[in-house]
Amino acid sequence: MQSLTSPTIRIEQDVPLAPYTTFRIGGPARFFCEVTTEAALLEGVDYARQRDFSLFILGGGSNLLVSDAGFDGLVLHIAIDQPIQVNPTDHAIDYIVSAGTDWNSFVLQVCEQGISGIECLAGIPGSVGGTPVQNVGAYGQEVADTITSVRALDLQTNSFVDLTHKQCGFAYRRSIFNTSHRNRYIVTAVTFRLDRTAKPNLTYTDLKRHFDGPAPTPIDVYHAVRSIRHGKGMLIVEGEADSRSAGSFFKNPIVAKDLLPQIAITLDIPVEKIPHWPADKGQVKLPAAWLLEQAGFSKNFAMGQAGISSRHTLALINRGSATAADIAALRDTIQQQVKARFNIQLEQEPVQLGF
Ligand SMILES: Cc1cc2nc3c(=O)[nH]c(=O)nc-3n(C[C@H](O)[C@H](O)[C@H](O)COP(=O)(O)OP(=O)(O)OC[C@H]3O[C@@H](n4cnc5c(N)ncnc54)[C@H](O)[C@@H]3O)c2cc1C
Repeated sequence: MQSLTSPTIRIEQDVPLAPYTTFRIGGPARFFCEVTTEAALLEGVDYARQRDFSLFILGGGSNLLVSDAGFDGLVLHIAIDQPIQVNPTDHAIDYIVSAGTDWNSFVLQVCEQGISGIECLAGIPGSVGGTPVQNVGAYGQEVADTITSVRALDLQTNSFVDLTHKQCGFAYRRSIFNTSHRNRYIVTAVTFRLDRTAKPNLTYTDLKRHFDGPAPTPIDVYHAVRSIRHGKGMLIVEGEADSRSAGSFFKNPIVAKDLLPQIAITLDIPVEKIPHWPADKGQVKLPAAWLLEQAGFSKNFAMGQAGISSRHTLALINRGSATAADIAALRDTIQQQVKARFNIQLEQEPVQLGF
């Protein structure tokens, strides 16, 4: 590993990326720079531009599959972590949180203050800046419910902008940051508006079941969510094999309702037995984990060093020394089998780098 100098930032060379990802997989970044301020971010971007390097923005690496060859460009690791600004108003509290802040730590802080609105999102790994990108969601909440604005560096104009909730274009696991304006914005801070009077969200069945006594507080829900997630292998716990993953590897597909009778015929079951939820435009959302199971993939399934979590069918895991190629081979096998059986193309959730 070598370092290059620049006025205020340190550019390192050939930095292994695997330790920066929850999969613990991936080759080196040719250039790597940790940025802790907006000024350093501007300088990092400028450094890449002047040398015509490709740029990749790294948060907590929890939604990322890095290729074995690594990345032939500059990785900017967003480590901007200023104290959280708390602005109370009559009915709400605005929290302005730096992109490099650990997401779960922020959720914990809010829940400890007795405030609801993000308690169901406890235990999701990664950075605050990563959350608007795919509009993270779990157990009945998603960040789009509470984000009022996102501060970002606009790479087109080289200036900082404050994007409104509407401009972010949030939808299920989507925003402008991972669709129409992918690679245009680098998030530096996010503003969340939480209602002081809101009660914890208990719409999710497992969560409802967890509480049969008095109404739980936000911090009760925080701990319950983490415990449920742990049971499903969806919590990062150092040393647990199921933790070497990127969470759900496939998005729940949204398909035409007409497909349900065909699935029922394929499986020889009544349509009512197919788990699904209503989606936009009269379509339906199907649980990807259920489709995998019906296509013959179960927990603990292994293909060499790549496998399926022992606790959640939707999480592909690195069983110890898996390469990115091993994970990709398992992904392709699953996608092909689900496509062949149900004519549904499963979409990968984690972002790929260097493929
Ligand atoms: C065990 C486990 C459980 C999970 N559970 C859930 C869940 O319940 N729900 C859910 O939605 N997700 C879940 N995830 C996925 C993941 O945690 C989230 O998507 C998370 O928000 C990713 O943030 P990150 O900082 O790790 O982003 P990274 O993985 O570092 O990056 C992901 C993408 O976001 C971009 N990005 C990151 N930071 C910035 C920034 N500051 N500005 C611009 N772009 C940026 C990157 O360039 C990349 O394209 C889970 C993952 C794991 C490992």
